[in-house]
Amino acid sequence: MDVRRLPKDPGPAAWNALLPPAPSRPALRENSSADWLVIGAGFAGLSAARRLAELHRGDRVVVLDAVTLADGPAGRNSGFMIDLPHDLTSSDYSSRADKDQRHTRLNRAGIDYALDAKTAYDMPDEAIVRSGKVNGAVTDRGVAHNNAYALHLDHLAEPYERLDAKAMHALTGSPAYVDGLFSPGTVMLQPAMYIRALARGIESNRVCIHEHSPVVQLERDNRLWKATTRSGSVVAPKAILAVNGHLESFGFYKRQLMHVFTYASMTAPLSSRQLKRLGGEPRWALTPADPMGTTVRRIADTGGDRLIIRNRATFQPSMEISDARLGEVIRTHDRSFRDRFPMLDDVEMAFTWGGRLCLSRNTVPAFGELDDGLYAACCQNGLGTAKGTIAGKLAAELASGEQGPLLDDMQADEEPIKLPPPPFSTMGASAIMRWGEWRAGKEL
Ligand SMILES: Cc1cc2nc3c(=O)[nH]c(=O)nc-3n(C[C@H](O)[C@H](O)[C@H](O)COP(=O)(O)OP(=O)(O)OC[C@H]3O[C@@H](n4cnc5c(N)ncnc54)[C@H](O)[C@@H]3O)c2cc1C
Repeated sequence: MDVRRLPKDPGPAAWNALLPPAPSRPALRENSSADWLVIGAGFAGLSAARRLAELHRGDRVVVLDAVTLADGPAGRNSGFMIDLPHDLTSSDYSSRADKDQRHTRLNRAGIDYALDAKTAYDMPDEAIVRSGKVNGAVTDRGVAHNNAYALHLDHLAEPYERLDAKAMHALTGSPAYVDGLFSPGTVMLQPAMYIRALARGIESNRVCIHEHSPVVQLERDNRLWKATTRSGSVVAPKAILAVNGHLESFGFYKRQLMHVFTYASMTAPLSSRQLKRLGGEPRWALTPADPMGTTVRRIADTGGDRLIIRNRATFQPSMEISDARLGEVIRTHDRSFRDRFPMLDDVEMAFTWGGRLCLSRNTVPAFGELDDGLYAACCQNGLGTAKGTIAGKLAAELASGEQGPLLDDMQADEEPIKLPPPPFSTMGASAIMRWGEWRAGKEL
């Protein structure tokens, strides 16, 4: 089948830009064969390749990605590896208790696998560290979301701590937050640093990663899967598609995947004067109490002390956005930033970017065997750092004939349900998102 669309990533990949240039990996320039083929080198693809190398020492694994490592969504996110229920389409992140327990087990297994990579490949805390995160509320409505979420966590017997306005101020320096809910299990990433270190760790003379190698055709050829790029091809008996929403570009799950963009901005490094005016702790991580609100993070590492914010979600069935859209988002980011940090009115954003998410209407993954020897580890529902990691690992296990309770958990969800036909799907999803953002009010 011809691949219908290739990834387009709007704006700079800021986390990558903070790091020294990485040695580039060659594009595929030959017709070769492998024991395993992985398409996509984000969280899912690299975790799949890592697991394959663990299970089949000596086998040749080839990973192909369309872009530079960590320039795609894997390096464009806010870096929260969240263990707890975090359903972005729900009012307070929670879903049914049994589903939440199962997904929490999976998220935690993804986090454990990533922390194991930290030890195995000697990654610094800056790349990946367990620090927990706070759900921050700036309005009564946000407090109500935190209250509802706290009740759900009680029900799940999960620990958390509530923070009052004073504690939130001491943490963030922002006078805007009136309430917080701290949960300890979240792991924070410098996503580009983690992805680069993971790739470096798994590469060997048996595991080969090719950047700038978009797969333009995938076909079954004499019981082998053949992926063709613009300058070469790879054949392998088994292949894993780890391309998140681009699974649909390969002809699978048509009209079952929702392609959504979300957006982030990162400030220039804060000066010592600005830091003094800001106050608060040097590193913290805050998701909004209202899922449609604003994520904020402070870092103090390579690239200096900076604040990063993320908000807005737009439904983009074309999987592309225009420059005008990015311009419109910059204005929202500016407003959200000034509302929270009025003392930093002289701070400029150094980077603004967007990136793709893949959601399903019923918040389930697109996981499993698609065809004989072809597997999917896709549709991470906006939480691909943890979910992509475990989906990739488990897809490698499924393809290797392994069994186990986590694979059962991963396969217990129903299929992603169909979207209404366009233009109803576009109109409906866009209206729901705009309505949610409008209702979020100052939480945005
Ligand atoms: C601004 C922003 C903030 C976010 N914040 C968070 C967060 O805090 N926590 C969280 O968990 N998630 C977050 N996300 C979502 C997260 O980034 C994704 O869910 C995650 O990257 C998905 O991982 P993945 O490996 O499944 O897919 P991806 O990271 O998208 O990797 C798939 C790879 O496949 C490649 N590909 C696609 N088509 C082809 C082809 N034809 N040939 C070759 N390669 C191809 C792409 O180039 C890409 O590199 C955020 C996203 C954005 C944009």
